Amino acid sequence: MTHIPGIVITGASGRMGQMLIKTVTDSDQARLVGVVERAGHDWVGQDVGVAMGGPALGVTVTDDPLEAFAQAQAVIDFTAPEATLEFAALAAQARCVHVIGTTGMTEEQIEALEPASRHAVIVRAGNMSLGVNLLVQLTKKVAAALDEDFDIEVIEGHHHHKVDAPSGTALMLGEAAAEGRGVKLVDVADRARDGITGARKRGDIGFHAIRGGDIVGEHDVLFAAPGERIVLRHLATDRAIFARGALKAALWGQGKAPGQYDMVDVLGL
Ligand code: NAD
Repeated sequence: MTHIPGIVITGASGRMGQMLIKTVTDSDQARLVGVVERAGHDWVGQDVGVAMGGPALGVTVTDDPLEAFAQAQAVIDFTAPEATLEFAALAAQARCVHVIGTTGMTEEQIEALEPASRHAVIVRAGNMSLGVNLLVQLTKKVAAALDEDFDIEVIEGHHHHKVDAPSGTALMLGEAAAEGRGVKLVDVADRARDGITGARKRGDIGFHAIRGGDIVGEHDVLFAAPGERIVLRHLATDRAIFARGALKAALWGQGKAPGQYDMVDVLGL
């Protein structure tokens, strides 16, 4: 019997799913024990290594999440909001750590995770990279140090397949800026400008989403005042940074008390 945690990856065929499978199989701190895809997907029933175009990994893609979770200590889930809610209930039933990278969840969907977090560890973050989580801390500090003479704008760019906007990371950065200023993001967020919008409202936090090509993820937090500007920037050039962060979270969560955590907890920032 090994003490190396067994990991299940959901959304196996996705951009992040495939990156996570590589990261887990390359790691000597975790074992890949299951991979899940949605029912009807042509990867279901195939060896996941072969489906990815490489050598067999001895793990068959399944559309039965509970059966897979029952063999595991952690589930790493970068899929879609409705799927993530279903996986949260099943991961809690199997007492697996549930690492959630899925973005675009509504407030109601986030609240619906609460019952699962009474029985199991959930680590959820709109961005799992060390660099972005540091940027979040810096944003909070800079926003706290500056007054509303500095207009805050969050500018993000992603590949053309991305389905939600602003990105989960942009919202994390907006929340951090609002927290630094001692205000609620919902009261100051300006999420779309088009047409005759009128002058910018003092204290607002603006969001802009660029979508194009294969951009992995770029985020600027701009603090613009008369006569000077500060720009905090993170550029992701490789999805591996998110997968490494997610695996770190899955390992960190082993033996922790049930509840909801984020990457600030995992990274001890
Ligand atoms: P993708 O579309 O390439 O992959 C999504 C995968 O989920 C697909 O394989 C799809 O079949 C699968 N899926 C959907 N519903 C399912 C279900 N019910 N059961 C099993 N599988 C299901 O998308 P992606 O680029 O890999 O991104 C996935 C999510 O991760 C998005 O929400 C994205 O914003 C987010 N993301 C988060 C981070 C982070 O650090 N938190 C980083 C990158 C992407």
